Formats: sequence, C-alpha cells, structure tokens
Amino acid sequence: MKRGPAGLLLACAAACVGAARPARAYVRYYTEAGAPFAWSEATLPVTAYVRDFDQQTMTSDQVLDAVTSAAAAWSAAQNACTYLTLEPAISDDPPPRAVNDAHNSLIFRNTSWCQLAPDGSCEIDYDASALAFTWDTANKMTGQIYDADIEVNLVDFQWADVVADPSQRDDMDLQNALTHEMGHFVGLDHTCFNPLSAGTGPRPKDNTGAPVPDCDVAPAAVQQTTMYPSAMPGDTQKRTLSPDDQAGLCGIYPAGQRPPGDGPLRGGCTQCAAGGGQPAPLELAVTGALVIWAGRRRRRT
Ligand SMILES: [Zn+2]
Repeated sequence: MKRGPAGLLLACAAACVGAARPARAYVRYYTEAGAPFAWSEATLPVTAYVRDFDQQTMTSDQVLDAVTSAAAAWSAAQNACTYLTLEPAISDDPPPRAVNDAHNSLIFRNTSWCQLAPDGSCEIDYDASALAFTWDTANKMTGQIYDADIEVNLVDFQWADVVADPSQRDDMDLQNALTHEMGHFVGLDHTCFNPLSAGTGPRPKDNTGAPVPDCDVAPAAVQQTTMYPSAMPGDTQKRTLSPDDQAGLCGIYPAGQRPPGDGPLRGGCTQCAAGGGQPAPLELAVTGALVIWAGRRRRRT
C-alpha cells in the first residue's frame, strides 16, 4: 500500500497526542543517600487505636469504615496491578507514641498535637493547620521502610463521614484524609511542591525525572491526585486513587513481582539482611510527611 500524506498526518497526530498527554506521574520519598522508600513485605499490618476518637460527629462504625476503606484503596483487592495489601486491625488499647518500634500505628490525637516525649509531654508542637502526619522510618542506604505511623489531628479539626452524613460537609472527611496518609505510608510523597510549607526540602522530582509543580498552580490532573497535599472541608476526592496514584502504587509494588521480603533468603537469613534485626538509629531516615493542610481551620470548642 502506498503511504500518502494522510498516513503521515495520522501517524503524526497519534504521536502528538501521545506526547501531549502527561505521563502517569508519582513522587516517592528518597533517603539522603538517594534510595527510594519502599516496604519489602507484601502485607503491611497497621493497628488503628480508636479509643481516643471521641468526636460525636462520627459513629465508631464510621471510624472503622474510614480506616478499612482507606487501607483497601491502596491494596491488591482494589488494584489488580499491585501485590501490596494493607491489613488494618482495630485496638481499644491506649495508643503508643509515633516512634520507630516496628509496629505500624494509626493514632488519633485528641488532647495534644505535638511530638510526644517518652513521659507524654509535648516535645515539638506540630503545625495546627496540618490535618494529619505520617512518619515513615526507613534504612538510609536501601530505603527499606521499617515502620510507619499515622497521627490524626482531632485537636484542631472536626471529622466526619461526609458521604454518609452530607449535612456535615463543613467537617473534614476522615476517609479522605486517611487515604492520603496511607499513600505516605506506602512511601509516596506529595505530587506538588509548596515552597511556603515549613520544613520543606528541595523541590522533589517525579518518577519521570520532572520537577513537581508548585501546588497552587498545579494542573488539574495533579490537584485531583490523592497525594495532592491540600483538602477542604467536605472534600472526598482523595478517597479514590487517581490514575497517577495507582501508577505509584503499582510502579513500586507491581503485581507479578515477588516482594523483596518474600524471597527465599529472607527466611534463612533474618539477621543478616539489610533490614534484619533492629537497625541502629544512624541507619534511619525518618520522614515526617506534612500531610494535608486544610483550606481553613476548624477549631473545636
Ligand atoms: Zn501529605
């Protein structure tokens, strides 16, 4: 068949459309040594300490549903392209501190919003406009995550299940925020950069090597990601992963690959692998993810 100009035009059109469409972009945490954060197990337990969730705006069933639904959003049952599963458990015990104790905790902070000292006093105040924080602790050289803890700010914000109770859309949607936090939990960073945010490091690059945009001028596709770092009252958009978020999950933990921690070496060599045994503090990179900040604050009375 003779190839005429129409064929070229078609080919060009296809190529141009392909080039113009942004690649699926996601952003990972990196250690100072340049290693990307990642878990080495396929199943990640996380214990939600629900005792201190004392707001009347949500039933205990709604809190449980928010936790399990947020975990499911990042798990294989809802994402055929990954092997990862987050496995939440519920506890009525007093919550631990958010520290590297090889125990992943989801903690509701209802009396203070700060980094706690061992004696329970406040060591460092958190930003009162932060809805939640996730702390990932990883090996500096390998990026292997050892521990992740999520803290939710009940001191400055009122939470709700905005889908079940649309009349509470002036509150913050718990599932929305938890789904974002669990993205940090699996090792993802924000999809944009806020130069005004306290403690911000250099502008991160996404998986394609492109610097992430400023948050306030980010394209709609970035603003619609679960890992976009801002939420307004009533926002439920982050409950569902965007294609970019899913690309991050499945790029790091792809279905069909064996998780590093499930290899045969692991069973016979738990103490000699990089992640084996209790790591010394110097080996650790701790990332405090300034999580979502809200458009406006809502202080409890
Ligand atoms: Zn965040």
